[in-house]
Amino acid sequence: MPYYSGEERLPDEVVRRVLVVMAHPDDADFVAAGSVARWAREGAECVYLLCTDGNKGSDDPAMTPERLGPIRRAEQRAAVARLGGRDAWFLGFEDGLLEPTIALRRAITEQICRFRPDVLVAQDPTMRWSGSEYINHPDHRAAGEAALAAVFPSARNRLIFPDLFTAGLEPHAVGAIYLAASEQADTWIDISETMDQKLAALAEHRSQFTLAEVEPFVREWGAANGRQIGVRYAEGFKVLRPR
Ligand SMILES: [Zn+2]
Repeated sequence: MPYYSGEERLPDEVVRRVLVVMAHPDDADFVAAGSVARWAREGAECVYLLCTDGNKGSDDPAMTPERLGPIRRAEQRAAVARLGGRDAWFLGFEDGLLEPTIALRRAITEQICRFRPDVLVAQDPTMRWSGSEYINHPDHRAAGEAALAAVFPSARNRLIFPDLFTAGLEPHAVGAIYLAASEQADTWIDISETMDQKLAALAEHRSQFTLAEVEPFVREWGAANGRQIGVRYAEGFKVLRPR
């Protein structure tokens, strides 16, 4: 799988398992789905781990969180299937009120130590806004903060959550963290061949938007990232490889 930093092709890394940790259903499909589809095509097992089920994501006065939760879970599972991913797992924290608590960090740590990903894709916890019109959702920052803390130090150290490790799990060192949609992106993945799968995944989130509403923006953003490395479409990431 080719990765690029500017014009330079980076060395391939072995990616057998990818865990995509996000606050809400649909988040990853905007920022990382093309890359997930590529990892899946190249044989990696890809799982989404959602901190919430996004059950507050409606302006319809007739909708309730109790009805919306199962709809959004099903939409996210269908989207992951479009990408060739294995599944979407849900941690069940409350949508709209997510905080980077120790409970959230522990829950992510447990899944890291079970699934043992080589790559973990997360939201950038440092991003508070972008441009003049986009305020980053506080749940996104919370999910990113907890995911980073889970990778380092919690999943590597058996003394922080000792009960996880007495129950049969072993610590796990994640090889690389890919922070999606980061303004400090330093690595781009060519998604020209998987843009159609990304759009198909986005189309599954019918409770949130129609594909026609988001496709122009998604293509524009993908093309802007693509220009960074001279391809039609790309997704950008800030990559951390903790030692
Ligand atoms: Zn979101």
